[in-house]
Amino acid sequence: MSDSAPIVIVGAGHAGGTAAALLRQYGHAGAVILIGDEPLGPYQRPPLSKAWLKGEADGDSLRLKAPEWYADNGVDLRLSQTVAALDRATRAVRLSDGETIPYDHLILATGARARLLPIEGADLNGVMVLRTAADAEALKAALSSQRHRVKRLAVIGGGYVGLEAAASARALGAEVVILERESRILARVACPVLSRFFQDYHRERGVHFILDAAVERLIGEDGRVRGVRLADGSVLDCDVVLVGVGAVPNDELARAAGLDCQDGILVDLAARTSDPAIFAIGDVTRRPMPLYDTVMRLESVPNALEQARQAAAAITGRPAPEPETPWFWSDQYDLKLQIAGVPVGCDDMVVRGDPGAPGFALFHMAGDVIRAVEAVNAPGEFLVGRQLIGRRTPVCRERLADRATPMKSVAL
Ligand code: FAD
Repeated sequence: MSDSAPIVIVGAGHAGGTAAALLRQYGHAGAVILIGDEPLGPYQRPPLSKAWLKGEADGDSLRLKAPEWYADNGVDLRLSQTVAALDRATRAVRLSDGETIPYDHLILATGARARLLPIEGADLNGVMVLRTAADAEALKAALSSQRHRVKRLAVIGGGYVGLEAAASARALGAEVVILERESRILARVACPVLSRFFQDYHRERGVHFILDAAVERLIGEDGRVRGVRLADGSVLDCDVVLVGVGAVPNDELARAAGLDCQDGILVDLAARTSDPAIFAIGDVTRRPMPLYDTVMRLESVPNALEQARQAAAAITGRPAPEPETPWFWSDQYDLKLQIAGVPVGCDDMVVRGDPGAPGFALFHMAGDVIRAVEAVNAPGEFLVGRQLIGRRTPVCRERLADRATPMKSVAL
């Protein structure tokens, strides 16, 4: 190990854990300190609402690396420790217990936290969010408890986490109602055709929906949630409430230290912040999107991995990786949704397959160029679509719409 000040990574999540591993893979020989406020080492969050919640995966399968990997590779993993402040002038972080750790380079990988509902009753027992392994443990226990009859789960928010948790809760035998403020589920993240498909699929599997729902407050009994009261005066009985209304970036450390932020830490394509010694990666960032000529905050594993590669390459002096086409997935029941690209600046949509049954893809177009694809149980459409988006290759719309034409033949 070299004598220089270490590389300090704040946040031992998917992005932070990956960055530590890549620094070693890219040949960095100096000290690496990875600090996380959760009791677990870096783990994957996607299974928390999917296979893990249904009981189909064990805790070990969530880990990014075996526990001994960190010591074996000279990564000083410090768990259950919170970084309370950054001092850019002296290049040091201060832990909440007062310890100060100097850094040569700092990587902020503090992620995001579940957004809370500012309504009466939000602090009742049985009102939950789903962000951490501890949250998932609590939700699973609440849904599986045998103390009395079938559990009734009210999910506030029809986004991906809420829908995945609803599908898993049905597999656990719970009754599920989804309360969505907008007139359709997935309103912020998917097109209306996809919203309709997922709503129908869930409905056929016993999930109830209340759209345009104005949740007024949560009603409790002996400190436990018993119902959700809506603005129209109706009350929905329930045993558990899952609040799934999005995530807020943990950018407070960066803001207090004077780094440029805008609902997330602003970074460039090397994941560098406005301070050249400080990088930021993962859900906490707002990053350039070269394909779309804009900046966005992405909450996805592929984004966390891409930015970990960018930061590790910049710090170790390797060439910058090629920008990737953003992508995301969601698993619900037997459905695999895969999305590539972002439907920015689109003027039309091409439908391939029947959007009423699994095995279709929706292509969002700007002229003859695909900007985004939403594919349901259509991995070929997703894979080729993602390549065409990245290369900005013009396609023949008629061939794209015809499922009998292989995807490799749709380019003009
Ligand atoms: P995180 O994984 O949130 O890690 C940040 C870590 O930093 C946390 O442990 C946090 O506690 C810690 N931290 C914060 N502040 C401090 C501090 N001051 N000091 C010390 N530690 C700190 N993405 C997909 O692509 N596909 C999916 O299907 C998918 N499903 C998901 C399902 C669920 C239930 C959830 C919650 C997320 C899902 N995601 C999915 C999103 C994906 O998990 C995130 O994009 C990814 O975890 C981001 O990694 P990150 O390291 O930036 O943040």
